[in-house]
Amino acid sequence: MSTSEPLDSAIRDLVIANRILARENVIDGFGHVSMRHPLNPERFLLSRSRSPEVVTRDDIMEFELDGTLVSQDHRRPYAERFIHGAIYMARPDVNAATHHHAHSVIPFSLTDEPLQPVFHMASVMGTEVPVWDSQNEFGDTNMLVDTLEMGQSLARHLGHRQAVLLRGHGAVCAGPSLQAVCMISIYMKDNAELILKTLPLGKPAALSPGEVERTAAMLLSAMPLARAWEYWTSRAGFQGI
Ligand SMILES: [Zn+2]
Repeated sequence: MSTSEPLDSAIRDLVIANRILARENVIDGFGHVSMRHPLNPERFLLSRSRSPEVVTRDDIMEFELDGTLVSQDHRRPYAERFIHGAIYMARPDVNAATHHHAHSVIPFSLTDEPLQPVFHMASVMGTEVPVWDSQNEFGDTNMLVDTLEMGQSLARHLGHRQAVLLRGHGAVCAGPSLQAVCMISIYMKDNAELILKTLPLGKPAALSPGEVERTAAMLLSAMPLARAWEYWTSRAGFQGI
């Protein structure tokens, strides 16, 4: 891939985001994070099929929004890259997306218990996280979102929101930047853990829609995002580079 200054810096941040999400236990051996191409909004950047914890600059590939690989690269891409392209097609405001299988969010994809923000840092995931069930449109599958048609169905279910659950599979988060989508993904996982800890004690109180709106606007502003990114970057071993 030819590089320029903005692209070079974007690839660096995307590699760091891969390592951050692995370090924060959002993504394990599977799952991925992508970003819209900084110079061409009709393309996106995503690693080749590899565990995020070991992704390097050389692993980053460039795709059309329909999931077509741009370069003559014979390495294997993620089967679920269609998740990312379909969201970038549907949402001009989204510049970064994650797909993860964090175990704490799965129970909310299996039951009617809603995944709502119950602590302030999770306001960034929005007031509600709907559940997309592949069974409804596609019947029995291998549970992967491995076609553009499935990706577009999932993107429709995401709608204008920041996150959607995949029944029996995981979640997808979308944000205006890599920093924002890391914040959404990390605090979504933490929020799910907090609800699971609260439920034995009683029904958790969710933030009101007004609290969600005001708190999310504050957290997704420049200073909190920069502070969080610096912290996660350090924990992922990239401090001072
Ligand atoms: Zn998956």
